[in-house]
Amino acid sequence: MMTQPSLQRWLGAILPNRCLMCHQQITSTQSGICRVCLNACLYQTPVCLGCGREMQLQVSYCGECQRHNRLKVVAPCGYHDGLGHWVGQIKYQAQFAVIEVMVDALIRRLHHLIELGFVQMPQVIIAVPLHSKRLRQRGFNQAWLVAQSLSQKLELPLLDDVLIRQTNTAPQAGLSGKMRRQNLLDAFTLVADINWQRIAIVDDVVTTGTTVSEIARLFNKQYIETQVWCLARAEAPGLN
Ligand SMILES: [Zn+2]
Ligand SMILES: [Zn+2]
Repeated sequence: MMTQPSLQRWLGAILPNRCLMCHQQITSTQSGICRVCLNACLYQTPVCLGCGREMQLQVSYCGECQRHNRLKVVAPCGYHDGLGHWVGQIKYQAQFAVIEVMVDALIRRLHHLIELGFVQMPQVIIAVPLHSKRLRQRGFNQAWLVAQSLSQKLELPLLDDVLIRQTNTAPQAGLSGKMRRQNLLDAFTLVADINWQRIAIVDDVVTTGTTVSEIARLFNKQYIETQVWCLARAEAPGLN
């Protein structure tokens, strides 16, 4: 006998014209999450682009992130505000129905931040790569699926062949900050020259930011300005 939540999840999976969160019927132009649920979960207040913390004033960084000039992360919502679970399902359940609706929300957020002068439109985007072995196991890279959709909608080139993940690192979940950094040390390599000044690194979810920071470090060494785009981010005050 199925429990109620798993039954609902199962129904959500076989009835794609219903909202995964509230199970109401949704219009044919949308998929995955209805407008009501989506809007309820998106950021309602200004948040720091560095650490994701809620702020009173509409500025790009909180004081702490301003001092450390932290990597800017553009996300439409916090991981723990309802939508994070569904973004996580892209990876674990191949639940692709939410990608388009979340990518659209990310694009709206991006344009808002560009209007405020907090970020600039990059010239190209790049997806956080999976190790080839993990890619074979899973069959897809969720970050690449998100990046491909962004690339089409924003008409920005998606660079596919410049960055590789050379070590098949242990999953980051459950590791401390220091262990996360050690785990990722030299995990990524740039394998081609990049003649661009501004890029965005795309991932499905950003939690501590260790992975994207590690990649940004490689680009920053070449004086390439980087920002990060993701569908949901955790509030990570210890981000560095
Ligand atoms: Zn709904
Ligand atoms: Zn901050």
